[in-house]
Amino acid sequence: MPKIRIYKIAEQFGIPTSELIDILKDLGAEVKNHMSSIDDDLVELIKEEIDYRRKRAEELQKKKERTITIDAPVTLRDAAKLFNQDLDDIIIRLADWNIIFDTRNPLPPLALEKLAREQGWEIEWKEDVKKKILEAISFEPQPRPPVVTILGHVDHGKTTLLDAIRKSRVAESELGGITQKIGAYQIEINGQKITFIDTPGHEAFTSMRARGAQVTDIAVLVVAADDGVMPQTEEAIQHARAADVPIIVAINKIDKPGANPDRVKQQLAERGLVPEEWGGETICVNISALQKKGIAELLEMILLQAELLELKARKEGHAVGTTIESRIDRGKGPVATVIVQEGTLRVGDYFVAGTTWGKVRSLFNDLGKPMKEAEPSTPVEVVGFTDLPPAGTKLMVTESEKIARIIAERRAEIAREKNLKTPERELISLEELFA
Ligand code: GDP
Ligand code: MG
Repeated sequence: MPKIRIYKIAEQFGIPTSELIDILKDLGAEVKNHMSSIDDDLVELIKEEIDYRRKRAEELQKKKERTITIDAPVTLRDAAKLFNQDLDDIIIRLADWNIIFDTRNPLPPLALEKLAREQGWEIEWKEDVKKKILEAISFEPQPRPPVVTILGHVDHGKTTLLDAIRKSRVAESELGGITQKIGAYQIEINGQKITFIDTPGHEAFTSMRARGAQVTDIAVLVVAADDGVMPQTEEAIQHARAADVPIIVAINKIDKPGANPDRVKQQLAERGLVPEEWGGETICVNISALQKKGIAELLEMILLQAELLELKARKEGHAVGTTIESRIDRGKGPVATVIVQEGTLRVGDYFVAGTTWGKVRSLFNDLGKPMKEAEPSTPVEVVGFTDLPPAGTKLMVTESEKIARIIAERRAEIAREKNLKTPERELISLEELFA
């Protein structure tokens, strides 16, 4: 086999012999010095290795040129300068990603990384800058009440149950004076709160999920004990499963002569909802919504389930919520019921909600009483929208009117463009989809 001296090869490839010796050692060849010889069939392998190393060195160099080292917190304004971008454009991107920000605060590390990547840059963080930023902008999540939706087949007793629960929160004597104003309410038992969404459970659930909004933590599935599992019961099970929401079953109308709770349990078990007392994981409570029996036990089970879920949200910082219904009020203009999900919503806050925006002029609780602020899981009526937001719209508080307006207007623009391009698709209503 022809031999070739290695200094010759080094010359041929234009690299120092020392580097070639390194390569040869890496390849497992035995080399003593630059006068050593190697088999010439190794030359091809060496060429490949040199090409590979060159390419890698180039890539590394390129990456280095496209890497920004961050050694101190970066605000939104700093980022705009850094990437030579319009501040408004950056604001819109962050809103698209549902990232909560404040132009006066450091940008969340993830937001900065995403922005950089879009511009073809990599971020290299110095020491504990990332940690410092997170410490400055994050808030400790606090326990929050569960948000519950009631689902089930028509006439199985959803409305009756919601009424029974609502009435359980006040003394009988006060009953006459209570009128619920909005499609959600909150009760308190033994100092623990539960929020119920009172819009026609099924529709609210499906339409909001179709918009990607998820506000429910727990689904209560009402099944009439005299009727059993019906088509909408099955649909409800599917929706809750798709949303990954735990189901508590309320077997209703147990006061009726034809009631057969065991048959209901059998039907549920056949659909994968095996009752606890049969060794499964599904909590089933026998109730009579009409006679208000079993309500306390059902509420207890909801609280128990909520505890297992360890529901938490931050209370500080800009509020985020979801609209569950909206309407035009003669005196107040466009109003919406919002479930606050993060932060605290306050009178005076500017906000953006989909393609609309506004300033919170007033807040009302479920009994129509004015409130100054609303914490996570609280349902509130919000007055101050410039336009009517559809149910299932995410609402996000912004630091200024200008920012709220910029985001809403740009979204409206994008929606208009999309509408022009695909008019047919926009016309399919949810009612049709779920008919
Ligand atoms: P929804 O369609 O699921 O909201 O059902 P509703 O709450 O409107 O109830 C349908 C019918 O069932 C009404 O006539 C209720 O009075 C009746 N109903 C609801 N719960 C009970 C119950 O626990 N026992 C009996 N006997 N009737 C009930
Ligand atoms: Mg009803």
